[in-house]
Amino acid sequence: MVALASLLSIVVFVVSPYIVQGTTIRALNPDNARLLRFSATHTEWISNTALEYLLEQRHQYLPGSRETVGFVHTSSVNVDGLRNANKALLDGISDEAIRALAGREGFKVGYIDITETYDGTTNHDEAKTNEASRAALPYSAVDPTAHPDYKALAAMVSAQELRNIVGNLSTTFPTRYYRSTNARAPSLWIQSYMSKFTNVSATLFENTFNQPNVISTLTPPGTSNTTPIILLGGHLDSTSQSPSTKAPGADDDASGTAVALHVLSILAKSGWAYTKSKYPIVTHAYAGEEGGLLGSAALAKSYKSAGRSIRGMLNLEMVGWQPETTGSSTITVLTDPNADMSNYMLNVIKAYVPTASVRSTKCGYGCSDHYSFSDAGYPVVCIASYGPNDANLNPNYHRTSDTLDKLNFDRMADFARATLAWIVQVAS
Ligand SMILES: [Zn+2]
Repeated sequence: MVALASLLSIVVFVVSPYIVQGTTIRALNPDNARLLRFSATHTEWISNTALEYLLEQRHQYLPGSRETVGFVHTSSVNVDGLRNANKALLDGISDEAIRALAGREGFKVGYIDITETYDGTTNHDEAKTNEASRAALPYSAVDPTAHPDYKALAAMVSAQELRNIVGNLSTTFPTRYYRSTNARAPSLWIQSYMSKFTNVSATLFENTFNQPNVISTLTPPGTSNTTPIILLGGHLDSTSQSPSTKAPGADDDASGTAVALHVLSILAKSGWAYTKSKYPIVTHAYAGEEGGLLGSAALAKSYKSAGRSIRGMLNLEMVGWQPETTGSSTITVLTDPNADMSNYMLNVIKAYVPTASVRSTKCGYGCSDHYSFSDAGYPVVCIASYGPNDANLNPNYHRTSDTLDKLNFDRMADFARATLAWIVQVAS
């Protein structure tokens, strides 16, 4: 952490420093800096030049082979070395921020960029978020015999269609990096995919960068805009060592997006969403996740300021990598930030997809888009093939080698089954 004295000396020059959980943070000009949240109690401005420099350092630590994944997870950032080499640039930036941005502590950067969503008056209300997380989940007991309609939905899951969607996203668009020239094109493709289905409208939710989030809503009769909604989704953007030209992101996260789109199509085509669900089902494709959960932070803020109630949010993140060729598919439930939601999902998968090997592990603050909704006080859960600190994490993560041919679509189909099972349980 930065010494308090040095913070105060900087704060003297600003009119109204942001106070977050009792910590004074430097207020910089949003035109040349970003406001990043590294934990529920740590928010900090980082200049754009320092941010780009630190993120560039991360590529030194990228895996590249399955063997090096373990090394990456045990190596840590030489914070003092970075500071000594770049005193002027890194002056005033906390050790924790340098580690989170330059390092590989988990497979995600581990921060939320709240530059656009922080309103400057209300601080992150950790107590309130915790209260929401602790509230008893309003779901019925996990019981497949009470939901015989699940079987027909599960029978509609197609590994071939998952492959088609991942193929389109990862090859039609050489990169889906949120700051690349054609960052908008994958959003438009997803919008057209969603719009193919009867009674489905898909809208764009614009961001401050040229890549909108995409939203579709399946609305059962008799519901209104005060009815709680059920959210599922994955992030549509990608990154790599050469993000402006080549970032196929087949696993990260065309795979999660594909499962969300495929489940949406099953719920629409079967009519289930209009006849059996008590709640509107909203599918999101998030933009700019790799820039610090940008698109999901904007969406979560919009739901919160509209007073929208969310019954549950499911995030699908890197669900296509299954390195073991024998045995069953592995589904990992990330245990944070909402343990009750994670436990419920574990029980859903055990009951409905008994052939899958289900396990759980910690993800880490800001690891993916569910953190944006958790920070807004909503109940969230995330599933993945493996967690950030697993030796089995996809070694092609954030590399130009994250391609279609490395993924297992038959096993990815189990993620679609798990998602359908969760929806059948939560929507009743
Ligand atoms: Zn991802």
